[in-house]
Amino acid sequence: MAVLVFDLDDTLYDEITYVHSGFMAVSQFMNVSLGIPVEASYAFMRNELTKSGRGQVFNSTLEHFGFYTKTNVKKCISVYRAHDPQIELSPDAHTCLTEKSSYPIYIVTDGNKHVQNKKLTALGLKKRVKFCYITYRYGLKNSKPSPYVFNKICEKEMVATSQVIYIGDNPTKDFVGIKPLGFITVRIMKGNYKHLVKSDEYEADYQIQSLDELTDSFINTITNGIERC
Ligand SMILES: [Mg+2]
Repeated sequence: MAVLVFDLDDTLYDEITYVHSGFMAVSQFMNVSLGIPVEASYAFMRNELTKSGRGQVFNSTLEHFGFYTKTNVKKCISVYRAHDPQIELSPDAHTCLTEKSSYPIYIVTDGNKHVQNKKLTALGLKKRVKFCYITYRYGLKNSKPSPYVFNKICEKEMVATSQVIYIGDNPTKDFVGIKPLGFITVRIMKGNYKHLVKSDEYEADYQIQSLDELTDSFINTITNGIERC
């Protein structure tokens, strides 16, 4: 029987919506604790993100409004990480998880364990899949590209790697560690890595534009035509 394993960020929902949601929480915090109007700091952060990427957003925002201190930056980061995100599954993810509910489904995601856990809760994923593996819970060395939790899934489901399909968006780490072991890899062309071209060892076996393409017949074909039992 095929086992479906999904990445989280930019595979099941758009990660940028998490970032925006976090900015809103930080804007509210800046309003309450520093008196900066919510709309002003939020707009500034969105603009900074577009201009310079994620790294220095809180620093530049606090500087801009005259409140830069290391402590304030730290507070913003903890508000961002601790906030309950306002995020939703992508429509194709919602449909796919509903239609494929007879398959064993897992999630494998890297990232801060508290942050990832909040995302999984907000998206209602814990009750829709068999188990969510947040790799950092098993130690940094067992995060992607390590096959550690993927092997755990094989043991749990008692299947060969050739029956496990991993769907992810990031060719720098999603596929390179598990492909040599025979896992089937599918890249969804979404998010920041959409246009990234990598060498064959990093690339997935298959590419899709949307999870709508994950039909039963596609699943059967890529797991060597073995019918589901
Ligand atoms: Mg991802």
